[in-house]
Amino acid sequence: MTTTYEPIVGMECHAELLTESKMFCGCANAFGGAPNTRTCPVCLGLPGSLPTMNRRAVDLVLRTALALHCEISLDCLFARKNYFYPDLPKGYQISQYDDPIGKSGYLDITLEDGRSKRIHIRRVHLEEDTGKLIHAGGNESEVDYNRSGVPLMEVVTEFPPDIESADEAKAYLEKLRSILIYLGVSDGKMEEGHLRAEPNLSIRPVGTTGVGVKTEIKNLNSFKSVYKGIEYELVRQSELLNAGEPVRQETLGWNDVSGETYHMRFKEEEQEYRYFPEPDLVPLHFDTPDIEAARADLPELPDAKRERFTSQYGLRDYEAGILTASRPLADYFEEAASGADPKAIANYVTGDLAKLLNASGQEINDTKVTAAHLRELIMLRDDGKITNNSAKAVLAEMFESGESASTIVEARGLAAVSDDSAIAAEVDKALAASPDVVAKIKGGNEKSKGFLTGMVMKAMKGQARPDVVNRLIDERLAAL
Ligand SMILES: [Zn+2]
Repeated sequence: MTTTYEPIVGMECHAELLTESKMFCGCANAFGGAPNTRTCPVCLGLPGSLPTMNRRAVDLVLRTALALHCEISLDCLFARKNYFYPDLPKGYQISQYDDPIGKSGYLDITLEDGRSKRIHIRRVHLEEDTGKLIHAGGNESEVDYNRSGVPLMEVVTEFPPDIESADEAKAYLEKLRSILIYLGVSDGKMEEGHLRAEPNLSIRPVGTTGVGVKTEIKNLNSFKSVYKGIEYELVRQSELLNAGEPVRQETLGWNDVSGETYHMRFKEEEQEYRYFPEPDLVPLHFDTPDIEAARADLPELPDAKRERFTSQYGLRDYEAGILTASRPLADYFEEAASGADPKAIANYVTGDLAKLLNASGQEINDTKVTAAHLRELIMLRDDGKITNNSAKAVLAEMFESGESASTIVEARGLAAVSDDSAIAAEVDKALAASPDVVAKIKGGNEKSKGFLTGMVMKAMKGQARPDVVNRLIDERLAAL
Protein backbone atom coordinates (compact mmCIF):
# COMPACT_ATOMS: atom_id res chain seq x y z
CA MET A 1 0.00 0.00 0.00
CA THR A 2 1.33 3.42 -0.85
CA THR A 3 1.18 6.29 1.59
CA THR A 4 0.30 9.84 0.54
CA TYR A 5 2.68 12.45 1.86
CA GLU A 6 2.65 16.22 2.30
CA PRO A 7 5.70 18.50 2.30
CA ILE A 8 6.91 20.66 5.19
CA VAL A 9 8.95 23.50 3.75
CA GLY A 10 11.41 25.87 5.38
CA MET A 11 12.60 28.88 3.38
CA GLU A 12 15.92 30.70 3.39
CA CYS A 13 15.83 33.81 1.26
CA HIS A 14 18.76 36.08 0.41
CA ALA A 15 18.21 39.62 -0.86
CA GLU A 16 20.92 41.93 -2.14
CA LEU A 17 20.27 45.31 -0.55
CA LEU A 18 19.68 48.49 -2.54
CA THR A 19 22.66 50.48 -1.26
CA GLU A 20 25.00 52.74 -3.22
CA SER A 21 28.14 51.03 -1.93
CA LYS A 22 29.21 47.62 -0.67
CA MET A 23 28.84 46.35 2.91
CA PHE A 24 32.33 47.08 4.25
CA CYS A 25 34.03 49.27 1.61
CA GLY A 26 33.28 52.16 -0.74
CA CYS A 27 33.07 50.12 -3.97
CA ALA A 28 29.84 50.61 -5.94
CA ASN A 29 27.03 48.11 -5.48
CA ALA A 30 25.81 47.57 -9.06
CA PHE A 31 24.91 44.78 -11.48
CA GLY A 32 26.89 43.65 -14.54
CA GLY A 33 29.92 45.47 -15.87
CA ALA A 34 33.37 44.13 -16.77
CA PRO A 35 34.63 41.55 -14.21
CA ASN A 36 36.70 42.80 -11.24
CA THR A 37 36.17 46.50 -11.99
CA ARG A 38 34.39 47.21 -8.70
CA THR A 39 36.94 45.92 -6.21
CA CYS A 40 39.40 47.23 -3.61
CA PRO A 41 41.71 45.71 -0.98
CA VAL A 42 38.77 45.25 1.45
CA CYS A 43 36.43 43.30 -0.85
CA LEU A 44 39.39 41.40 -2.33
CA GLY A 45 40.32 40.32 1.20
CA LEU A 46 43.89 41.62 0.98
CA PRO A 47 45.94 41.36 4.20
CA GLY A 48 45.81 44.42 6.43
CA SER A 49 42.57 45.85 4.99
CA LEU A 50 39.82 46.62 7.51
CA PRO A 51 36.03 46.65 7.09
CA THR A 52 33.88 49.74 7.73
CA MET A 53 30.17 49.18 8.35
CA ASN A 54 27.64 50.46 5.79
CA ARG A 55 25.03 52.19 7.97
CA ARG A 56 22.44 52.25 5.20
CA ALA A 57 22.56 48.45 4.93
CA VAL A 58 21.95 48.16 8.68
CA ASP A 59 18.95 50.51 8.38
CA LEU A 60 17.46 48.48 5.52
CA VAL A 61 17.66 45.24 7.51
CA LEU A 62 16.14 47.00 10.53
CA ARG A 63 13.23 48.21 8.36
CA THR A 64 12.67 44.69 7.04
CA ALA A 65 12.80 43.16 10.52
CA LEU A 66 10.21 45.69 11.75
CA ALA A 67 7.95 45.16 8.73
CA LEU A 68 8.09 41.41 9.44
CA HIS A 69 7.03 42.03 13.07
CA CYS A 70 10.35 40.83 14.50
CA GLU A 71 11.85 41.49 17.91
CA ILE A 72 14.94 43.64 17.45
CA SER A 73 18.22 42.61 19.14
CA LEU A 74 19.43 45.78 20.87
CA ASP A 75 23.02 44.54 20.65
CA CYS A 76 24.30 42.33 17.90
CA LEU A 77 27.70 41.00 17.04
CA PHE A 78 29.01 40.18 13.64
CA ALA A 79 30.62 36.79 13.20
CA ARG A 80 33.07 35.14 10.85
CA LYS A 81 31.72 32.13 8.99
CA ASN A 82 34.81 30.26 7.90
CA TYR A 83 35.03 28.14 4.80
CA PHE A 84 37.32 27.82 1.83
CA TYR A 85 36.03 28.50 -1.66
CA PRO A 86 37.52 30.64 -4.45
CA ASP A 87 34.53 33.03 -4.51
CA LEU A 88 35.32 34.03 -0.92
CA PRO A 89 38.66 35.87 -0.96
CA LYS A 90 39.03 36.36 2.81
CA GLY A 91 38.42 32.68 3.55
CA TYR A 92 35.47 33.72 5.71
CA GLN A 93 32.19 35.56 5.25
CA ILE A 94 31.16 38.28 7.69
CA SER A 95 27.68 37.33 8.88
CA GLN A 96 25.57 37.27 12.05
CA TYR A 97 25.13 34.21 14.23
CA ASP A 98 23.86 34.44 17.80
CA ASP A 99 22.07 37.79 17.71
CA PRO A 100 20.54 38.54 14.31
CA ILE A 101 19.07 42.06 13.93
CA GLY A 102 15.53 40.62 13.86
CA LYS A 103 14.07 37.42 15.34
CA SER A 104 10.69 35.77 16.02
CA GLY A 105 8.63 37.62 13.41
CA TYR A 106 5.91 36.60 10.96
CA LEU A 107 4.34 37.29 7.61
CA ASP A 108 0.70 36.59 6.62
CA ILE A 109 0.00 35.03 3.24
CA THR A 110 -3.29 34.82 1.34
CA LEU A 111 -3.85 31.78 -0.85
CA GLU A 112 -5.80 31.62 -4.08
CA ASP A 113 -8.83 30.12 -2.35
CA GLY A 114 -8.96 33.20 -0.09
CA ARG A 115 -7.58 31.37 2.99
CA SER A 116 -4.90 33.23 4.91
CA LYS A 117 -2.11 31.77 6.96
CA ARG A 118 0.60 33.10 9.26
CA ILE A 119 4.17 32.05 8.42
CA HIS A 120 6.54 32.49 11.35
CA ILE A 121 10.01 33.88 10.78
CA ARG A 122 13.00 32.79 12.84
CA ARG A 123 15.56 35.42 11.92
CA VAL A 124 16.47 38.36 9.68
CA HIS A 125 20.19 39.07 9.51
CA LEU A 126 22.85 40.98 7.62
CA GLU A 127 25.88 39.54 5.86
CA GLU A 128 27.97 40.04 2.73
CA ASP A 129 27.69 38.40 -0.67
CA THR A 130 30.46 36.33 -2.26
CA GLY A 131 32.09 36.75 -5.67
CA LYS A 132 30.86 34.82 -8.68
CA LEU A 133 32.51 31.84 -10.34
CA ILE A 134 32.26 31.72 -14.10
CA HIS A 135 32.85 28.30 -15.59
CA ALA A 136 34.94 29.03 -18.66
CA GLY A 137 34.80 25.54 -20.14
CA GLY A 138 37.17 22.61 -19.83
CA ASN A 139 38.82 22.59 -16.41
CA GLU A 140 38.95 26.36 -16.15
CA SER A 141 36.94 28.64 -13.93
CA GLU A 142 37.23 32.38 -13.59
CA VAL A 143 36.17 34.50 -10.69
CA ASP A 144 34.52 37.94 -10.68
CA TYR A 145 34.71 39.83 -7.36
CA ASN A 146 32.35 42.66 -8.38
CA ARG A 147 29.68 41.03 -6.18
CA SER A 148 32.11 40.29 -3.34
CA GLY A 149 31.06 42.28 -0.28
CA VAL A 150 27.66 43.39 -1.61
CA PRO A 151 25.28 43.75 1.38
CA LEU A 152 23.09 40.69 1.67
CA MET A 153 20.11 40.09 3.94
CA GLU A 154 18.94 36.63 4.93
CA VAL A 155 15.36 35.90 6.00
CA VAL A 156 14.80 32.43 7.49
CA THR A 157 11.45 30.86 8.40
CA GLU A 158 10.83 29.35 11.86
CA PHE A 159 11.42 25.69 12.65
CA PRO A 160 9.32 23.56 12.50
CA PRO A 161 8.11 25.29 9.35
CA ASP A 162 4.54 26.47 8.76
CA ILE A 163 4.63 26.06 4.98
CA GLU A 164 2.88 22.84 3.91
CA SER A 165 2.62 23.00 0.12
CA ALA A 166 4.27 24.38 -3.00
CA ASP A 167 1.39 26.88 -3.28
CA GLU A 168 2.09 28.20 0.22
CA ALA A 169 5.81 28.44 -0.53
CA LYS A 170 5.09 30.44 -3.67
CA ALA A 171 2.63 32.71 -1.83
CA TYR A 172 5.24 33.27 0.92
CA LEU A 173 7.93 34.19 -1.55
CA GLU A 174 5.63 36.50 -3.52
CA LYS A 175 4.55 38.28 -0.35
CA LEU A 176 8.11 38.63 0.96
CA ARG A 177 9.26 40.00 -2.40
CA SER A 178 6.39 42.46 -2.48
CA ILE A 179 7.22 43.72 1.05
CA LEU A 180 10.93 44.11 0.19
CA ILE A 181 10.05 46.16 -2.88
CA TYR A 182 7.56 48.30 -0.91
CA LEU A 183 10.29 48.97 1.64
CA GLY A 184 12.85 49.92 -1.02
CA VAL A 185 15.13 47.23 0.42
CA SER A 186 15.53 45.09 -2.71
CA ASP A 187 14.56 45.29 -6.37
CA GLY A 188 13.27 41.72 -6.08
CA LYS A 189 14.83 40.60 -9.38
CA MET A 190 15.06 36.82 -9.03
CA GLU A 191 16.33 36.30 -12.58
CA GLU A 192 19.38 38.49 -11.81
CA GLY A 193 19.95 36.72 -8.49
CA HIS A 194 19.11 39.81 -6.42
CA LEU A 195 16.54 37.74 -4.55
CA ARG A 196 17.36 34.06 -4.07
CA ALA A 197 15.23 31.40 -2.43
CA GLU A 198 16.47 28.11 -1.01
CA PRO A 199 13.66 25.89 0.23
CA ASN A 200 14.39 22.90 2.45
CA LEU A 201 11.87 20.15 2.43
CA SER A 202 10.87 17.02 4.27
CA ILE A 203 7.65 15.01 4.00
CA ARG A 204 5.18 13.30 6.35
CA PRO A 205 2.07 11.19 5.82
CA VAL A 206 -0.92 13.48 5.25
CA GLY A 207 -2.74 14.09 8.53
CA THR A 208 0.28 13.51 10.78
CA THR A 209 2.57 16.01 12.49
CA GLY A 210 6.34 16.22 12.76
CA VAL A 211 9.10 16.60 10.23
CA GLY A 212 11.25 14.08 8.39
CA VAL A 213 14.78 14.09 6.97
CA LYS A 214 15.13 17.21 4.87
CA THR A 215 16.83 18.12 1.63
CA GLU A 216 17.73 21.63 0.51
CA ILE A 217 17.27 22.90 -3.06
CA LYS A 218 19.58 25.53 -4.55
CA ASN A 219 19.71 27.48 -7.86
CA LEU A 220 16.01 28.30 -8.08
CA ASN A 221 15.74 31.62 -9.89
CA SER A 222 12.02 32.18 -10.40
CA PHE A 223 8.72 31.67 -8.56
CA LYS A 224 7.92 28.96 -11.07
CA SER A 225 11.10 27.02 -10.41
CA VAL A 226 10.56 27.25 -6.62
CA TYR A 227 7.09 25.79 -7.14
CA LYS A 228 8.27 23.08 -9.51
CA GLY A 229 11.30 22.22 -7.36
CA ILE A 230 9.11 21.61 -4.30
CA GLU A 231 6.58 19.56 -6.25
CA TYR A 232 9.40 17.48 -7.75
CA GLU A 233 11.03 16.86 -4.36
CA LEU A 234 7.68 15.85 -2.81
CA VAL A 235 7.26 13.16 -5.48
CA ARG A 236 10.90 12.03 -5.31
CA GLN A 237 10.91 11.66 -1.51
CA SER A 238 7.46 10.00 -1.50
CA GLU A 239 8.65 7.39 -4.02
CA LEU A 240 11.74 6.67 -1.92
CA LEU A 241 9.75 6.14 1.29
CA ASN A 242 7.06 4.10 -0.47
CA ALA A 243 9.83 1.87 -1.88
CA GLY A 244 11.16 1.35 1.65
CA GLU A 245 14.27 3.42 1.03
CA PRO A 246 15.45 6.27 3.27
CA VAL A 247 15.61 9.96 2.30
CA ARG A 248 19.18 11.17 2.79
CA GLN A 249 19.96 14.61 4.11
CA GLU A 250 21.53 16.35 1.13
CA THR A 251 21.87 19.56 -0.84
CA LEU A 252 20.33 19.44 -4.29
CA GLY A 253 20.64 21.63 -7.34
CA TRP A 254 17.76 22.44 -9.68
CA ASN A 255 17.95 21.91 -13.42
CA ASP A 256 15.40 24.27 -14.96
CA VAL A 257 15.60 22.61 -18.38
CA SER A 258 14.92 19.02 -17.30
CA GLY A 259 12.69 20.10 -14.38
CA GLU A 260 14.60 17.82 -11.98
CA THR A 261 16.73 18.17 -8.85
CA TYR A 262 20.23 16.68 -8.85
CA HIS A 263 22.64 15.71 -6.10
CA MET A 264 25.27 18.28 -5.03
CA ARG A 265 26.52 17.00 -1.66
CA PHE A 266 25.44 15.03 1.40
CA LYS A 267 25.08 16.75 4.76
CA GLU A 268 28.04 14.82 6.21
CA GLU A 269 30.23 16.33 3.48
CA GLU A 270 29.27 19.86 4.58
CA GLN A 271 31.70 22.12 6.34
CA GLU A 272 31.82 23.02 9.99
CA TYR A 273 31.85 26.80 9.75
CA ARG A 274 33.67 27.53 13.06
CA TYR A 275 31.74 30.77 13.68
CA PHE A 276 33.53 33.23 15.94
CA PRO A 277 33.04 36.95 16.69
CA GLU A 278 34.41 39.35 14.07
CA PRO A 279 37.20 41.26 15.88
CA ASP A 280 37.48 44.09 13.31
CA LEU A 281 33.92 45.43 13.77
CA VAL A 282 32.34 47.00 16.84
CA PRO A 283 29.05 45.38 17.92
CA LEU A 284 25.87 47.00 16.60
CA HIS A 285 23.71 48.78 19.14
CA PHE A 286 20.14 50.05 18.66
CA ASP A 287 18.44 52.50 21.00
CA THR A 288 14.71 52.05 21.58
CA PRO A 289 13.92 55.59 20.30
CA ASP A 290 15.82 54.83 17.08
CA ILE A 291 13.84 51.62 16.60
CA GLU A 292 10.55 53.43 17.20
CA ALA A 293 11.55 56.17 14.75
CA ALA A 294 12.35 53.52 12.12
CA ARG A 295 9.00 51.83 12.81
CA ALA A 296 7.13 55.12 12.39
CA ASP A 297 8.97 55.71 9.12
CA LEU A 298 7.79 52.43 7.49
CA PRO A 299 5.63 52.96 4.38
CA GLU A 300 2.10 51.60 4.13
CA LEU A 301 2.64 47.87 3.48
CA PRO A 302 0.61 45.53 1.22
CA ASP A 303 -1.81 44.23 3.90
CA ALA A 304 -2.70 47.71 5.17
CA LYS A 305 -3.04 49.06 1.64
CA ARG A 306 -5.30 46.16 0.66
CA GLU A 307 -7.62 46.90 3.57
CA ARG A 308 -7.67 50.59 2.73
CA PHE A 309 -8.46 49.86 -0.94
CA THR A 310 -11.51 47.80 0.07
CA SER A 311 -12.82 50.41 2.52
CA GLN A 312 -11.85 53.63 0.71
CA TYR A 313 -12.65 52.59 -2.87
CA GLY A 314 -15.24 49.87 -2.26
CA LEU A 315 -13.16 47.25 -4.13
CA ARG A 316 -13.60 43.54 -3.63
CA ASP A 317 -10.89 42.00 -1.44
CA TYR A 318 -9.66 39.88 -4.35
CA GLU A 319 -9.19 42.90 -6.64
CA ALA A 320 -7.56 44.89 -3.84
CA GLY A 321 -5.15 41.98 -3.35
CA ILE A 322 -4.09 42.01 -7.01
CA LEU A 323 -3.66 45.79 -7.07
CA THR A 324 -1.60 45.97 -3.87
CA ALA A 325 0.67 42.99 -4.60
CA SER A 326 2.93 45.43 -6.44
CA ARG A 327 3.61 48.94 -5.20
CA PRO A 328 3.91 50.46 -8.72
CA LEU A 329 0.55 48.89 -9.66
CA ALA A 330 -1.10 50.24 -6.48
CA ASP A 331 0.31 53.72 -7.15
CA TYR A 332 -0.87 53.59 -10.76
CA PHE A 333 -4.38 52.61 -9.69
CA GLU A 334 -4.61 55.40 -7.13
CA GLU A 335 -3.44 58.01 -9.59
CA ALA A 336 -5.92 56.85 -12.25
CA ALA A 337 -8.78 56.57 -9.75
CA SER A 338 -8.52 60.12 -8.48
CA GLY A 339 -11.41 61.82 -10.26
CA ALA A 340 -12.89 58.74 -11.94
CA ASP A 341 -14.96 55.76 -10.75
CA PRO A 342 -12.46 53.62 -8.77
CA LYS A 343 -14.34 50.39 -9.43
CA ALA A 344 -14.28 50.98 -13.19
CA ILE A 345 -10.57 51.82 -13.02
CA ALA A 346 -9.85 48.69 -10.95
CA ASN A 347 -11.80 46.66 -13.48
CA TYR A 348 -9.68 47.92 -16.35
CA VAL A 349 -6.35 47.70 -14.51
CA THR A 350 -6.94 44.09 -13.42
CA GLY A 351 -8.76 43.16 -16.64
CA ASP A 352 -8.15 44.60 -20.11
CA LEU A 353 -4.93 46.44 -19.24
CA ALA A 354 -3.52 43.43 -17.36
CA LYS A 355 -4.21 41.25 -20.42
CA LEU A 356 -2.36 43.65 -22.71
CA LEU A 357 0.57 43.81 -20.26
CA ASN A 358 0.75 40.02 -19.95
CA ALA A 359 0.58 39.47 -23.67
CA SER A 360 3.47 41.86 -24.29
CA GLY A 361 5.52 40.86 -21.24
CA GLN A 362 5.42 44.40 -19.83
CA GLU A 363 5.16 45.62 -16.26
CA ILE A 364 2.94 48.55 -15.28
CA ASN A 365 6.00 50.85 -15.22
CA ASP A 366 6.73 50.05 -18.88
CA THR A 367 3.33 50.86 -20.35
CA LYS A 368 2.69 53.87 -22.57
CA VAL A 369 -0.84 54.10 -21.13
CA THR A 370 -0.38 56.69 -18.39
CA ALA A 371 -2.69 56.74 -15.38
CA ALA A 372 -4.09 60.10 -16.59
CA HIS A 373 -4.83 58.62 -20.04
CA LEU A 374 -6.65 55.63 -18.53
CA ARG A 375 -8.70 57.97 -16.34
CA GLU A 376 -9.70 60.02 -19.40
CA LEU A 377 -10.74 56.84 -21.25
CA ILE A 378 -12.98 55.69 -18.40
CA MET A 379 -14.51 59.16 -18.09
CA LEU A 380 -15.29 59.27 -21.83
CA ARG A 381 -17.03 55.93 -21.50
CA ASP A 382 -18.89 56.76 -18.30
CA ASP A 383 -20.11 60.05 -19.79
CA GLY A 384 -21.49 58.11 -22.75
CA LYS A 385 -19.07 59.77 -25.19
CA ILE A 386 -17.89 56.34 -26.35
CA THR A 387 -19.44 52.91 -26.01
CA ASN A 388 -17.98 50.10 -23.93
CA ASN A 389 -16.93 48.27 -27.10
CA SER A 390 -15.14 51.32 -28.44
CA ALA A 391 -13.42 51.84 -25.09
CA LYS A 392 -11.76 48.43 -25.38
CA ALA A 393 -10.59 49.15 -28.91
CA VAL A 394 -9.31 52.59 -27.90
CA LEU A 395 -7.37 51.11 -24.99
CA ALA A 396 -5.65 48.60 -27.30
CA GLU A 397 -4.59 51.48 -29.52
CA MET A 398 -3.47 53.62 -26.58
CA PHE A 399 -1.34 50.68 -25.49
CA GLU A 400 0.40 50.57 -28.88
CA SER A 401 0.77 54.27 -29.63
CA GLY A 402 0.77 56.04 -26.27
CA GLU A 403 -1.77 58.57 -27.62
CA SER A 404 -4.54 59.91 -25.39
CA ALA A 405 -8.03 58.43 -25.55
CA SER A 406 -9.62 61.63 -26.90
CA THR A 407 -7.04 61.90 -29.69
CA ILE A 408 -7.76 58.34 -30.81
CA VAL A 409 -11.53 58.72 -30.53
CA GLU A 410 -11.39 61.82 -32.73
CA ALA A 411 -8.94 60.41 -35.28
CA ARG A 412 -10.95 57.17 -35.67
CA GLY A 413 -14.40 58.76 -35.55
CA LEU A 414 -15.32 56.56 -32.61
CA ALA A 415 -17.48 59.07 -30.76
CA ALA A 416 -20.67 57.37 -29.60
CA VAL A 417 -23.82 58.29 -31.47
CA SER A 418 -26.49 59.51 -29.08
CA ASP A 419 -28.30 61.51 -31.74
CA ASP A 420 -31.87 60.20 -31.65
CA SER A 421 -32.68 60.73 -35.33
CA ALA A 422 -29.71 58.70 -36.63
CA ILE A 423 -30.49 55.82 -34.28
CA ALA A 424 -34.25 56.07 -34.82
CA ALA A 425 -33.76 55.57 -38.57
CA GLU A 426 -31.89 52.28 -37.90
CA VAL A 427 -34.54 51.20 -35.37
CA ASP A 428 -37.26 51.70 -37.95
CA LYS A 429 -35.30 49.69 -40.51
CA ALA A 430 -34.83 46.84 -38.03
CA LEU A 431 -38.53 46.74 -37.13
CA ALA A 432 -39.54 46.78 -40.80
CA ALA A 433 -37.10 43.97 -41.62
CA SER A 434 -38.27 41.66 -38.79
CA PRO A 435 -42.07 41.54 -38.60
CA ASP A 436 -41.95 38.04 -37.06
CA VAL A 437 -39.75 39.26 -34.17
CA VAL A 438 -42.01 42.26 -33.61
CA ALA A 439 -45.01 39.90 -33.46
CA LYS A 440 -43.23 37.73 -30.86
CA ILE A 441 -42.48 40.74 -28.66
CA LYS A 442 -46.05 41.96 -28.99
CA GLY A 443 -47.11 38.46 -27.92
CA GLY A 444 -45.17 38.91 -24.66
CA ASN A 445 -41.75 37.54 -25.56
CA GLU A 446 -39.64 40.39 -24.13
CA LYS A 447 -36.40 38.48 -24.69
CA SER A 448 -36.69 38.86 -28.46
CA LYS A 449 -35.98 42.55 -28.03
CA GLY A 450 -32.29 41.69 -27.76
CA PHE A 451 -32.38 40.61 -31.40
CA LEU A 452 -33.53 44.09 -32.47
CA THR A 453 -30.94 45.80 -30.25
CA GLY A 454 -28.25 43.64 -31.83
CA MET A 455 -29.39 44.54 -35.36
CA VAL A 456 -29.32 48.27 -34.61
CA MET A 457 -25.93 48.11 -32.86
CA LYS A 458 -24.49 46.21 -35.80
CA ALA A 459 -25.84 48.75 -38.26
CA MET A 460 -24.35 51.56 -36.14
CA LYS A 461 -20.98 49.69 -36.02
CA GLY A 462 -21.17 49.44 -32.22
CA GLN A 463 -21.07 53.17 -31.74
CA ALA A 464 -24.68 53.79 -30.70
CA ARG A 465 -25.35 54.24 -27.01
CA PRO A 466 -27.17 51.05 -25.95
CA ASP A 467 -29.45 52.94 -23.55
CA VAL A 468 -30.65 55.23 -26.35
CA VAL A 469 -31.18 52.26 -28.70
CA ASN A 470 -33.28 50.42 -26.14
CA ARG A 471 -35.35 53.49 -25.31
CA LEU A 472 -36.12 54.13 -28.99
CA ILE A 473 -37.04 50.47 -29.62
CA ASP A 474 -39.47 50.63 -26.69
CA GLU A 475 -40.95 53.89 -27.95
CA ARG A 476 -41.43 52.59 -31.51
CA LEU A 477 -42.91 49.28 -30.34
CA ALA A 478 -45.37 51.08 -28.07
CA ALA A 479 -46.47 53.20 -31.00
CA LEU A 480 -47.17 50.20 -33.26
ZN1 LIG B 1 35.72 47.15 -2.24
